[in-house]
Amino acid sequence: MNLKDRVVVVTGAGSGIGRATALAFAAEGSRVVACDVDQARLDTLAAELGDRKLLVKKLDVSDRLAFRLFADEVHAIAPAADVVVNNAGVAVGGTFLDTSLEDWDWLLGVNLRGVVHGCHFFIPKMVARGAGGHVVNISSILGIFPAPNVTAYVASKFAVRGLSLSLRQELAPHKIGVTAICPGMIATQIVADGRMTGTQMTARKTKVVDAFKRGLPPAKVAQAIVEAVRTNPAVRPVGYDAHVIAALQRVAPRTLNALAAQVQRRFGAG
Ligand code: NAP
Repeated sequence: MNLKDRVVVVTGAGSGIGRATALAFAAEGSRVVACDVDQARLDTLAAELGDRKLLVKKLDVSDRLAFRLFADEVHAIAPAADVVVNNAGVAVGGTFLDTSLEDWDWLLGVNLRGVVHGCHFFIPKMVARGAGGHVVNISSILGIFPAPNVTAYVASKFAVRGLSLSLRQELAPHKIGVTAICPGMIATQIVADGRMTGTQMTARKTKVVDAFKRGLPPAKVAQAIVEAVRTNPAVRPVGYDAHVIAALQRVAPRTLNALAAQVQRRFGAG
């Protein structure tokens, strides 16, 4: 797909991977629609996008009515989106026993319902227009590897990968590609801004935040997303760690079980 002047929607674009993705598509000449819950970050992004900004708007992706109105606003300017990147996400770290139902609601509201909303409100117009397009959903290495002590996050990211793989079959006849992006550890705010539950995880938060600072820059994921729109892979791991996990899942899934058991022995709350 030639990305010049294409309409690209990016959710959670105020920070990290979403921000880098919005800027990467702008650099390709696309017209960017960006949303986030943080207005100050959106103001900075809007200035950076310059004339590539089509619409930059505060939106909580878990809010169904607000998302409908946001999509209506986009469709009043453009007949359909060419690319939708469902990126907004939050993190909850902690065992299943330590995770409250309120934290489940918050996490699934953003990480899963937010993705469903992005698909629900943008895909029908893409299909009706009949000119193809691409949907990119951000899963994770934890959408492939069921690590213990992050149960809710793993559940949301497996769901996003599953939704994407199924949707891909349905949209293929419409020439709409679907890719699940599965990054490994990326240096963003997600852990610092996330919630840790239980005393063990809460005590470890500073260490985890520091570890994420050593992750890949978000621009690497943005680059993989732009490439995915051109090459349409079903699943695209990003980073050495993610490639190793994806390869193990294909050729030696029992090794992943052993790895999960090792993580549990080392970090398991008990
Ligand atoms: P990030 O730096 O925290 O960026 C996420 C952005 O989404 C933030 O600006 C955040 O705003 C926004 N957001 C949160 N809740 C929202 C909502 N309800 N509606 C709209 N926007 C919302 O984190 P990131 O690492 O770039 O995360 C982007 C995606 O990559 C997520 O889906 C994440 O799960 C996934 N991912 C990240 C990694 C990693 O290592 N970083 C690895 C694999 C997958 P606030 O900060 O104001 O909440």
